This record gives sequence, structure tokens and C-alpha cells, in this order.
Amino acid sequence: MPGTGYCNKKCVLGWTHNCCAKISGDHIVSASVLRVLNEQKITISSQSGSREHSIRSSALTVKKLCRRHNSALSVIDAEAARLFKGFVSINAHLSEGTDGQRLYFFHGTDIEHWLLKTLLMVFYSKQSNITPDKFQLPRYAISPFRYELDKPFGLYVPTQTNANDLGRFQTEATASVALITKGPLVCGVNVTLGGLPLTLLIDGEGSDFVSLLKTHTYRPKNLLFFKNDQVFCIGFAFSNGSSSDIWFSHGDANATLPSN
Ligand SMILES: [Zn+2]
Repeated sequence: MPGTGYCNKKCVLGWTHNCCAKISGDHIVSASVLRVLNEQKITISSQSGSREHSIRSSALTVKKLCRRHNSALSVIDAEAARLFKGFVSINAHLSEGTDGQRLYFFHGTDIEHWLLKTLLMVFYSKQSNITPDKFQLPRYAISPFRYELDKPFGLYVPTQTNANDLGRFQTEATASVALITKGPLVCGVNVTLGGLPLTLLIDGEGSDFVSLLKTHTYRPKNLLFFKNDQVFCIGFAFSNGSSSDIWFSHGDANATLPSN
């Protein structure tokens, strides 16, 4: 798509010189995702505390994207909505023992881009203590919208809740977003929607990733949700991901993995 050659100074993607003149208001968590989850409240937190907001609060709308960039990013909003919708549906089928769509497939980069967009929107909304006057984004934080993040940056999914447990999951009527900081730098975001926790790291040092990998998997290939012999799968395609699967037992942490 040819660029417009125009930089809207209020748009966080202005550096791409592909803006339009109109600024649009966007919810910090895409409206399409919230509709899937039917959440009424969202918790926004940082290391120093958290605040709960009604999702209808106008304070959660940020004007940091021009209309052209906002509509270009609606594709990744739709993919994130599809992901959380799939997760909710899988949970319902496992709870009720019913059958349904068993395999969902995503381009992992779309999900990372959505997490990055959420990080930026929460940062600029100033609804946590992590605000642009006190904290900085990494220098290249915004360019990954065009590129894939280099290893070890990107998506992390928790593997287990306790040392010997399988991952356990449940859907919860909560939505939370927490910015991750190190010193004055915003280096990532934790987003938990409907019980599915996702982490995106865009900065950090080697030791940060070593400790995170004890409890998380980097760019997992498949999230496999099971109860008895019923298995549902959310798969991710990454050009530079891991080949690891994460098994999540529905409810019972001591469940044995299903046999083929
Ligand atoms: Zn723009």
C-alpha cells in the first residue's frame, strides 16, 4: 500500500509518514475484544498498585492514533478477538463436555502486535502510575508494528502455576492489563482476559529472560487444553518461535495427559 507521506504529530506511528490528518479515539483494549468477553470492569496495574475501571469509562479512550493507522490496526484487533473468543468457547465445551471447533490457528505476530498496541494505549492513557512523563518506551518500541520482534523479545505464555503442576486454566470474569517496567523503561505488558494470560516483552536483559523461562514458554507452538480425552488446540505460527506445546488441564492440576 503506498504511503501518504504525511506525519500526524499526534499519532504514535507518525514516524512512518503514512498518517491521515484525523486523530481517532480508541479504547485501550480493543472494543472488539471486550465485546467477546462481555467484561464490565478492567484492572490496570503496575508494580506500585492497581486501579479498577468500568470499561465504559471515557478515561480508557486514548487519542494516539490517526484514523488511517487505527483502521489499519483493526485487522489485528479482529485476530485478538478471534483468539479470546476461541479460548472462551474451548472452556465452555470442556466445562459442558460438548464438542465444537477443536483447532484454532493464528499468526503469532498478529497477537504480538495487538499486545504491543495494548501496551502503548495503556501507557498513553495514564491510567496507571506508569506515565509518559516518568517512564520511557524503548527506543524502537513502535517499529515492531512493521517487523517481527527479535528473539528473545515477543510473546511468553505461562507454562505452569506451581513447580510440579500442569498448567491449569479457567475462565474468569476479569480483564487486567499490567505494564512491566525496569527502572524508567517500559519493557513489556501482561494481559489477562477471560482467564488467558499473555505476556509481551519488548525490552530487557539476558537474566530477565532466563528467570522468565522457568515459568513461561517463549512463542509456544500449541496451547493444548484438555479434560479427560477431550483436547482443543490453539496453534501459533511464528517464523522464529519455539516448538514447545503447553498443556492446560481443565480444572484438575493432577490430571494425566490424554493418551492418543
Ligand atoms: Zn498515523
